[in-house]
This record gives sequence, C-alpha cells and structure tokens, in this order.
Amino acid sequence: KRSLVWFRRDLRLHDHPALAQAGHDGRVLALFTLSPEMRKLEASCWWLEESLKELKTALHDKGIKLLVTDEDPTICIPKLVENHNCDQVLWNDSYATDERKVELAVKKALDAKSISYQALDGDLLFPHHELTKENGEPYSIFTPFYKRSQQETVKRPIAMPEEWQGIRAKTLKTIEELELLPDHPWTKKFANHWSPGEKAGIKKFQQFAKEDIEDYKKMRDFPDAAATSEISPYLTWGNLSVRAVYYAAKREKNAEPYLRQLVWREFAKRQLLEHPTLETKALRSEFDSFPWKASHADFEKWKRGETGYPLVDAGMKQLWETGWMHNRVRMVAASFLTKHLLLPWQWGAEWFKETLVDYDEANNGMGWQWVAGTGIDAAPYFRIFNPTTQLEKFDKNEEYVHHWKADQGLEPIVDHKEARERALEAYKSIK
Ligand code: FAD
Repeated sequence: KRSLVWFRRDLRLHDHPALAQAGHDGRVLALFTLSPEMRKLEASCWWLEESLKELKTALHDKGIKLLVTDEDPTICIPKLVENHNCDQVLWNDSYATDERKVELAVKKALDAKSISYQALDGDLLFPHHELTKENGEPYSIFTPFYKRSQQETVKRPIAMPEEWQGIRAKTLKTIEELELLPDHPWTKKFANHWSPGEKAGIKKFQQFAKEDIEDYKKMRDFPDAAATSEISPYLTWGNLSVRAVYYAAKREKNAEPYLRQLVWREFAKRQLLEHPTLETKALRSEFDSFPWKASHADFEKWKRGETGYPLVDAGMKQLWETGWMHNRVRMVAASFLTKHLLLPWQWGAEWFKETLVDYDEANNGMGWQWVAGTGIDAAPYFRIFNPTTQLEKFDKNEEYVHHWKADQGLEPIVDHKEARERALEAYKSIK
C-alpha cells in the first residue's frame, strides 16, 4: 500500500500511530499543513519552524520525503493522493478546535472522492470512550476524573517499523517559504533557552527524570528552582509523545505527582472537546455580564511587566524573553490581570497565545478559566492570589525576580487591598 501521512501537532518519529501504520502497510509520503490559526501563534511559530526542520531531516534519513504547505488541506490532500497513487491517508487526531473542523472537512473531501483514510489516536493517555462518569457524562471536576483515571491503564507507546520505503514527490514549498517567523526579531532570543524538536525533547525529559522528578512535588512551585520538566512545548507540538513520557516517568521513584500533571493535560483536552469555545467564552454564563474594566493602559503595563508587583512583572518578562513562564507565576500573573486589574481573562489568554512557545488551546483555555474562576473545576472567583505573599512564599530570596530583572522600585499600579475589595464587589454584582 502507498500512504500519505498528514502531520500537524505530532512532529516526531517515535510512538506515532499514523506513521507506524503507514510504514507497516508499505510506502510513505509525509505532509505537514500550516493552518491560518497556527500562523497567528507568533512565538509558537518559531518552535514550529525549528521542529519542522528537524522532522524533515529525520524523515529524509529514513528515505521519506516531508512536504510542507499552507494550502488548504481539503484541496491539497486529495490532489497529492491522486498525483502519487496513494491508497490511503493516515493522521493522528488533533484536539485544537479549528484543527478538528479542518479534519471534518478533509474527511468529507476524501469521502467525496472515495479515498480511504484513518484517523488514529496519538495524543491521549486514555482511550476516548473511557473516563466518563457512570452515567456516561464527562467529568467537569478534576479530582473525580483523576480518581477514575487511576482505574485504567495508559495506552502503551507503539514500536515503529525498522525499515521504511518512501514515495518520491516534488517539493511544494520549502519550510522557509512558509514564512513562519515574525517580522521583528523578538523570537530569535528563544534559542538561548530552548532547543526545539524530538531529539532535544527526549534528552531534556531524560535529564529531568534522572535528576528532578523525585523532588518534583516538593520543588515544583518555586519558580527559580527549575524543578519542573519544561517539556510543555515539546508536548504541545508533539515532539514528545505523552504516552512515552508517562511510561518513562513511571519507572522513576516518587513519580505520582508528576504523572498527575499529565492527567491535568488530559483533563484539559476533554474540557475542550466538551466546550469548543473554552478559550473565549466563560463556562459560567453569568460572567457574560461581569463588569470588566477593559483599560488598555493597564493591559499594556501588565504585558510589559510594569505593574509594580515584582512576581507578576518577573513572570511577564520571563514570558517575553523565553516564550515560557513557570506555572506558579502563570497563576499569579493571570489572577492579577483578572482580579486586581479587572481586565477580561480573554485578553490575557490572547496574549499568552501570541507569546507562549507551549501555547495549547486546551491548557490555556482551562488555565485562564480556572484562575479567573469562570467555570473550570471548583475554583471560585473570590479566591484571589495576593502577589506579595506569593512572592514571600515561593521566591523568598527574590532570586526569580532578580533573574528576570523585575523593577522593584516601581509604584504598584493598584493597591492590593483596594483591588481585592473592588473585585469582590464586581463579583457580587453578577451573583
Ligand atoms: P511540568 O510541571 O513539568 O508538568 C508536565 C506537563 O504536564 C506539562 O508540560 C503539561 O503538559 C502538563 N501540565 C502541567 N501542569 C498543567 C496544568 N495546570 N494544566 C494542564 N497541563 C498541565 N500549559 C500549556 O502547555 N500550554 C498553555 O498554553 C498553558 N497556558 C496556561 C495558562 C494559564 C493561565 C495557566 C495558569 C496555566 C497554563 N498552562 C499551559 C499550564 C502549565 O502552566 C504548563 O503546562 C506548565 O507550566 C508547563 O511547564 P512544565 O512542562 O515544566 O510542566
């Protein structure tokens, strides 16, 4: 058989169900399509370009050609199938809302031409139909979801074929011709912090597993400790398979708290499947009439890390410098935006979308709604992080804020106590 394998957020050669099946079935041609939605993700596009370059070489070494294009997949996939006499199209499911829409349209286009295809599951720990409540409904709260997940076995990573046969094809576009990098050189400095791609991801995870996983629970909340795995961008772009990570982590001592975070990722994907507007619309509809303040001046200060609260400011600077922010600081910075500044959580989510290299619609949407208290899990709106006590607790020696050069002489743009009261008043008005 001759197969076309369609890549999107699964830029790897290990534990890749679609590629494995294509290899077992015969000859393989690989295709990556860039969607207009992906192109909007400025920081992530830097990661994407680097990952594509590596993937192209890795496939080439196996004799497989990777085509890349920004043409509409409903048009270019059937065309490639016909031009190259392919018998089937294979891909791994994606969970991003727009990518699922595109997938449906591609299925329709293939059906119309009677072309065979198969979508495989390459990004979930547990099979789709599992992990629902006894009555078949999805979970909306994490703890029972987690408990239920512990009764199931995570799918094992699959072995990839040893031998490969490619299909010759003419280049559609070069990776550079996709013009993924933004005009300004902002993302260039990310290379000081990151090596994108599968090989570097595997190495990074192995090092974390060897050195840090044992103390993860104790250390994960201290932003200067570099005690988390920092594999989120590799998972987002599928440079790492979550199942491979899961089983590799499981071999280590004290791995449970880490494995639990991987289940949070799974939970977010299921929330997104249930609520395709997770990133833009509050789950609790009373928040539609919440009196957000919408001050552009405050928003600018937050983005630039000039709020006068050092932990928030350091986080925003870390984000700008590296395309990543520590989870504890994401929570504090997001809470500050929504509670202290009363700015719409969607503005913050949108800024993260542009600036994170690990941007993921499910995790971002869930993270913002969780912090904003607008519906995810049990976190209520009136839980308001105090950015000063958070600093005292999690960056006692101020190493993190020094490292990111937060200006500690700045006058706070809002007073904590007043801001807290204002937020609670605003909340009362919609209750
Ligand atoms: P580790 O602590 O080493 O955890 C390992 C992996 O588990 C992570 O890579 C991630 O895939 C998953 N994970 C960990 N924490 C969470 C969580 N709270 N929710 C879901 N999955 C989790 N994560 C993203 O990947 N992309 C986003 O766009 C994103 N936006 C966020 C926005 C807000 C407001 C908040 C509060 C959190 C957001 N997160 C997001 C979740 C979390 O902050 C990151 O996954 C984490 O900081 C990544 O660092 P790490 O790989 O070192 O994580």
